Parts: sequence; C-alpha cells; structure tokens
Amino acid sequence: MCIFCKIVNKDIPAHIIYEDESVLAILDISQTTIGHTLIIPKEHTENFLDCPKEILNKVTSVSQAIGNKIMSNLGAQGMNIIANVNEIAGQTIMHFHLHLIPRYDSNDGISISMRSADNIDLENIKNKIIKD
Ligand code: AMP
Ligand code: ZN
Repeated sequence: MCIFCKIVNKDIPAHIIYEDESVLAILDISQTTIGHTLIIPKEHTENFLDCPKEILNKVTSVSQAIGNKIMSNLGAQGMNIIANVNEIAGQTIMHFHLHLIPRYDSNDGISISMRSADNIDLENIKNKIIKD
C-alpha cells in the first residue's frame, strides 16, 4: 500500500487540514513554504491524467476552498498549484495529489523558471496535439 493510502487509512499520522468522504488535505511534510498543503483523493489513482473525472472535480473544488483559506489566514500573496505527473516531472509518490504552495515573496523557497524557445513551429505542434 502506498504512503498516501496509509495516511488515508490512518495507519500513519499526518496533519489533516480537511477531510470528507473522498478527499483529504494534509500539510506537506517538507513545507517548501509555510502552509504547503497536499490535496489527496482517498481513492488510489496514480496521477492527474488517470484520475476519474468525478474525483478530479472534488479534488479541484477542495483545492480552491483550502487555497483561499491559506491565502487569507496565512497572509500569502500568491500560490503555485502543481500536479507532478511521473518521475520525469518530479512525482515521487505515485498516488495523485495537488500541491498548494503559498507564495510570500520572491525569495521564499521555491523558484519556477520556464525557458522561452526560439524558432518553434507552433502550427505543427498544435496539429500533432489535436490529432485523434
Ligand atoms: P511529489 O514529488 O509531487 O510526488 O510530492 C510528494 C510530496 O509528498 C513531497 O512534497 C513530500 O514532501 C510529501 N510527503 C512525503 N511523505 C509525506 C508524509 N508522510 N506526510 C506528508 N507529506 C509527505
Ligand atoms: Zn495510494
């Protein structure tokens, strides 16, 4: 059984922020920034892309509610909401979860940088993505 299933089953402890019949929200043990929270569906699916739509809807709805509470109660200025899919993207626990990482200032422990590529054929990429 995976570590998040064990947390859902209360086999191992966690700091639970919210719980209902299908979703659990816990503090991430790493606290990348203060208030770093994980929103976890109770049912085990591997990642965002294979999560059934009804469960995904519940996860996003709880994420919005908890995200707003974190913003107002911890005085965050912004938030990164991240789903890592597979090892290549940094997923270490193969049970779907969303990270809510509140942002306080530009030096608060997380930096996300995205390059801008040159001379890319956007039309070709678009056509590849939309084909059946
Ligand atoms: P990811 O890399 O997207 O799979 O994220 C997994 C996250 O789970 C990491 O940010 C870890 O810090 C966090 N984590 C691992 N074990 C625990 C635990 N027992 N309780 C809370 N968070 C955990
Ligand atoms: Zn699991």
